[in-house]
Amino acid sequence: MTVIGTGYLGITHAACMAELGHEVLGVDIDSDKVRQLNAGILPIFEEGLDELLRRGLASGKLRFTTAYPEAAAFGDVHFLCLGTPQRPGEYRADVSQLDAAIEALAPHLRRDSLVVGKSTVPVGTAERLADRLTGLAPPGVRVDLAWNPEFLREGFAVEDTLRPDRIVIGARSEYADRVLRDLYAPLGDIPTLTVGYTTAELVKVAANAFLATKISFINAMAEVCEATGADVVQLSRALSYDTRIGGRFLHPGVGFGGGCLPKDIRAFMARADELGVGEALTFLREVDAINLRRRSRTVTLARELLGGSFDGARVAVLGAAFKPNSDDIRDSPALDVATAIQDEGGRVSVYDPAALDNARKARPALDYADSALAAATGSSVVLLLTEWSEFVGLDRGPLGAVVARRNIVDGRNVLDPVAWRSAGWQYRAPGRP
Ligand code: NAD
Repeated sequence: MTVIGTGYLGITHAACMAELGHEVLGVDIDSDKVRQLNAGILPIFEEGLDELLRRGLASGKLRFTTAYPEAAAFGDVHFLCLGTPQRPGEYRADVSQLDAAIEALAPHLRRDSLVVGKSTVPVGTAERLADRLTGLAPPGVRVDLAWNPEFLREGFAVEDTLRPDRIVIGARSEYADRVLRDLYAPLGDIPTLTVGYTTAELVKVAANAFLATKISFINAMAEVCEATGADVVQLSRALSYDTRIGGRFLHPGVGFGGGCLPKDIRAFMARADELGVGEALTFLREVDAINLRRRSRTVTLARELLGGSFDGARVAVLGAAFKPNSDDIRDSPALDVATAIQDEGGRVSVYDPAALDNARKARPALDYADSALAAATGSSVVLLLTEWSEFVGLDRGPLGAVVARRNIVDGRNVLDPVAWRSAGWQYRAPGRP
């Protein structure tokens, strides 16, 4: 098989499929990335993936190329793992990477093959791409398309790929369904649903819309708590015992970010508008707005601790990745908060255990430090914005010794306010008195 597009999803899929025993050729247009991958260097931070990459390369079951003719000759099955980012200035997804990959692959196909989309796409994309594939493949070559959405979580990508909670196959033929079921058979007994293209496309965006809604629900409760003196962490805990509600994704804080949830709910709204059912998803506008308000609220909490102004103050930001155990800084709440504080005159120093290189490239105007203590040295307020375990277990003693003032904003509600306050810190957190 080939795996076309070797980003967070593609590298994981390629390495895990090789681990299952398949012969895998990864394809990307980024020649630097391909060179790194062939040398066993993982260009992203993902627990356990470097080992799988090295093992795949060593066994000869995994390698990478930039050459589409080679990919067409190699694969019986071609997975599409291309990016579908938000288009600049609008809500719609940009699916041009998928079109480009199909245009580059299809004319080189010389035998019947199956193309499998894994990217998250607006509903209706698979149907359109299936027609393009048929149109671009040489006469006499039959190319089938399936849509097989991916549910992996960054930080748990390997585990989620090797032990998925479900497999969804959007297929138009028994052949496509059988090939995919055979291919995933080594995973064991995983609930597998065969559905049409449109349902397969929708399962993914519906799942992300639900998760985003759950996070924004508790963050909306945080806003009400802030106005009433109630404690949203206690509220969330009390809600979580209701098994109809459940405690997961009910954690109040600075909100969601990353390369998926924000752009997926926006693309979903845009697609619903195009389909004439925009009203069905108007609530997602609120979900998005609540989420973004949490970022400005976090800035406000820090500003209040400083008496109303960041002007000239040193500010330590702990966290740059959008979530712990990842180096992904796409739409990161932490970096947005850091930038907003800098725009208000704060002298911000950011530290993250894995995402510093990516953050430096994306936000070169911010200052960066090599450790939490270095970032905090001389600072008047510390903000914890990504819940890396290193920060959750932060030692108050050494930190208190290097800061100029003991002010902390716990943007993820992971610290113990009583312990911090009794150590002489002013503690603020979203949704808590
Ligand atoms: P990414 O931007 O990290 O990766 C995309 C890769 O495709 C890059 O390496 C890029 O160089 C390559 N590429 C671009 N154009 C190409 C072309 N014409 N030919 C070959 N390669 C090309 O994106 P990602 O985070 O891996 O996400 C990929 C898709 O999977 C998106 O639709 C995303 O929504 C979805 N998804 C991502 C995750 C996740 O956790 N990252 C989880 C589930 C689904």
